[in-house]
Amino acid sequence: RQAKRENVFAVVYSQGMDEQYLRRLQIVQALPSAVREQRLQLHFQPKLSCQNGQVLGVEALLRWRDEQLGVVRPDEFIPLAEQTGEIQRLTRWVCGAALDQLQLWHEQGLQLSLAINLSALDLQWHELVAFVTDAAKQRGLSAASITLEVTESAVMVDPEQAILRLGELRQAGFKIAIDDYGTGYASLAQLKRLPADELKLDRSFIQNIASSTADQTIVRSTILLAHELELTTVAEGIEEDSAWQVLKQLGCDTVQGFYFSRPLAAAQFEQWLHRYQREINHA
Ligand code: C2E
Ligand code: MG
Ligand code: MG
Ligand code: MG
Repeated sequence: RQAKRENVFAVVYSQGMDEQYLRRLQIVQALPSAVREQRLQLHFQPKLSCQNGQVLGVEALLRWRDEQLGVVRPDEFIPLAEQTGEIQRLTRWVCGAALDQLQLWHEQGLQLSLAINLSALDLQWHELVAFVTDAAKQRGLSAASITLEVTESAVMVDPEQAILRLGELRQAGFKIAIDDYGTGYASLAQLKRLPADELKLDRSFIQNIASSTADQTIVRSTILLAHELELTTVAEGIEEDSAWQVLKQLGCDTVQGFYFSRPLAAAQFEQWLHRYQREINHA
């Protein structure tokens, strides 16, 4: 009986593995044409000031819905794109599409800033700085209106290289954000050396902040530390009003989360923004 149970387990387990493997293989095969044929989409999520609730800018987030594969989340396909070398083309597409949108918004008089996510491998790409600088120039956008987000763990892949590349980007006028901060094991000595403007507190510290005094303590001291290092703080993953109230009290600068808006396609974001601005002007 014991042997039989083990067998059943082995079969189920390996079927699960096969399915996962197959899906990953299909993603790897489908991604290059999806990028080439512009079947990926960008969604935008607002970043708001804690001081006055104004929308300061948006973060661009990749979306991919494939006919066969269904919705493929960036957490699923970005790591594969890094493994296959597709990431560079993907990053170029994201920069182009996101900056096109920013240019449109600026032409409409919406003075938003825009954040783009970079992957660890992008930091090893020598032409990265020239590429984003040109992309901004071609569209008449100032580098100061563009933030490049890199996760703390991406920085830790090769800290020296990251410090060098982020320094070049910052020298060119771009803002740098350290994303998912608190989950990537950077030492304080490394944090101090990072050429950065913004620290984004990982949402695992934010999700239960209204009820967890431990999370409040972590976030309060991280905000103090960030401000000592002249970094602004962003809290991601605000889902409830109670979390927002606590973060305002703790002196956080900027917030982002489903409580305000999910990431939305450009047209939907514009509608959301109009409604939101009407609301805060009447409040
Ligand atoms: P991230 O840069 O930390 O982005 C924030 C993620 O949290 C997004 O997931 C967003 O949809 C989600 N989020 C925002 N507010 C809330 C909230 O209140 N609650 C919860 N539960 N989640 C919230 P998404 O879009 O699935 O992206 C996941 C990650 O994939 C991103 O994390 C980023 O690391 C990566 N990614 C997304 N787009 C790109 C891209 O264009 N290039 C690169 N290299 N990476 C990207
Ligand atoms: Mg990000
Ligand atoms: Mg993040
Ligand atoms: Mg993340």
